[in-house]
Amino acid sequence: MPGMLYVVATPIGNLDDITARALRVLREVAVIAAEDTRHSARLLQHFGITTPLVACHEHNERDQGGRFLARLQGGEDVALISDAGTPLISDPGFHLVRQARASGIRVVPVPGPCALIAALSAAGLPSDRFVFEGFLPAKTAGRLARLEQLKEEPRTLIFYEAPHRLLDCLADLERIMGADRLAVMARELTKAFETFQGLPLGELRAWVAADGNQQRGECVLLVAGWQAPAENSVPAAALRVLELLLKEMPLKRAAALAAEITGVRKNLLYQAALEHQG
Ligand code: SAM
Repeated sequence: MPGMLYVVATPIGNLDDITARALRVLREVAVIAAEDTRHSARLLQHFGITTPLVACHEHNERDQGGRFLARLQGGEDVALISDAGTPLISDPGFHLVRQARASGIRVVPVPGPCALIAALSAAGLPSDRFVFEGFLPAKTAGRLARLEQLKEEPRTLIFYEAPHRLLDCLADLERIMGADRLAVMARELTKAFETFQGLPLGELRAWVAADGNQQRGECVLLVAGWQAPAENSVPAAALRVLELLLKEMPLKRAAALAAEITGVRKNLLYQAALEHQG
């Protein structure tokens, strides 16, 4: 009988989050394939687990895969873990899982912590439908291009981001999605300084920029999905034009001029001007 490949989730901060099943599987398998053996050795030591670790990271996963497959086919059980959270979720493991499945090996998930799910479960943004985008491209041009494609995505958007790119990423999100779009930053989940901050993107960027502590540690960014403007609503930019003109001229003239400048219907702007003054 071939062995089984267990895909085991491990804590993303708080070690108490490891599941009883994960501990049993990690104890019982013949070998653990780990993204970083030194990192995982500390986890295993904490729980008194002595199962041997073998490196399986993005650089050796394809080559190493054959060796794990041979052991699985020889009847040994193997557990796959990453540095934190669920393997394959912005972490190595995809090639090994695919090779194992293609070879008829049973692949068994042992679910547990995952930063995107933890963040979504407590962020207070719509969670019935969402899109996980992993890491955005590291360079601004690539990031802007990807965000442009996502600009009108109606589902909640979830991104992973590295601390040193957080501010640039927030600036690009604001630029493409608009300063008013609601976003939530979920930082240091399950750890001592766990923080959730939900603000419109413009305010969130300014809040993070003003506090160096918010630029450290690990974080998940969630952005509310795009909502089509109501048919009779005046876009925020047109309202700003209207407000400026209202300071300088009578209401009727301001509405007419704002309509010419912005292309928004004059009667809509006239109505908005009345509400503004009221
Ligand atoms: N496989 C992991 C999972 O299941 O969430 C994700 C690994 S990915 C390489 C690392 C990224 O996940 C970080 O840059 C951050 O965006 C997010 N992350 C991981 N742990 C986190 C935590 N405790 N709090 C907030 N974000 C975290």
